[in-house]
Amino acid sequence: MSHLIQIPHRLYYAPPYHGMGLVMATCKLCGKSGWFLKVNDLSLCQICAPDHDIHIRDIAAKLKYFAESAGKPVSINYKIQNIISAISECNELIKLKKEGLLPHEIDALGIHRDLDSDLKNAIQQLIADMFFDARMKAKDASTDAGKLGGYAKSVERLVSTMGLVSDVTKLERAILDLRSERDLLKVKLLQKKADAFVAKGNNKKAIDVLIDALIEMRHDTTPDGDQAGLVRKIESRIISLGGSPPIL
Ligand SMILES: [Zn+2]
Repeated sequence: MSHLIQIPHRLYYAPPYHGMGLVMATCKLCGKSGWFLKVNDLSLCQICAPDHDIHIRDIAAKLKYFAESAGKPVSINYKIQNIISAISECNELIKLKKEGLLPHEIDALGIHRDLDSDLKNAIQQLIADMFFDARMKAKDASTDAGKLGGYAKSVERLVSTMGLVSDVTKLERAILDLRSERDLLKVKLLQKKADAFVAKGNNKKAIDVLIDALIEMRHDTTPDGDQAGLVRKIESRIISLGGSPPIL
């Protein structure tokens, strides 16, 4: 990104010839025009051009700062925030480009593409981290609430990131997957609880817990169709324990 701030000194030209003859130069910013007005290749006069250069250098410096901050070994959230700030500065450059006010040496679209791909990678990383965190918690926490809590935390962080980016497809997919994993874990924990009651000879309590599991599945965010097999399995377990599955 270092080429960004190397904006060469701009040259000024006398009024250009166009086909039939002399064309009067007009400054694109202040609108001044005249036969003796010299403008640079962006059609800026000698008064406006230096200020415009400073404006561009200012944007470029901010862009560079955010891009470099994002490149440092920082937390993934900080990285994402910095890339998004860099993209927003880059959008300023693209706006100038559309107005014909950006020196051609600055490849704003190319920089935007690079930043976009950095952002995609960072979000991918965040998603991977969130799955890792949730699964570690599910494995290591000592209580059922603790085991499930990791998923809630991960979902929360992905939801808050959704507000920052324009393309939320990957985040939405990951949130759905995390919720499904949590739903499945919730049912598995209830099945385990039921097993413990059966081991103690308390079939009635076991049946109650399995019915709770069925109710959970009916009301959770995972599509019921995806859970049909598991529902059948629990229903037949209830029957084998001498109970009857509820009609939900
Ligand atoms: Zn001017």
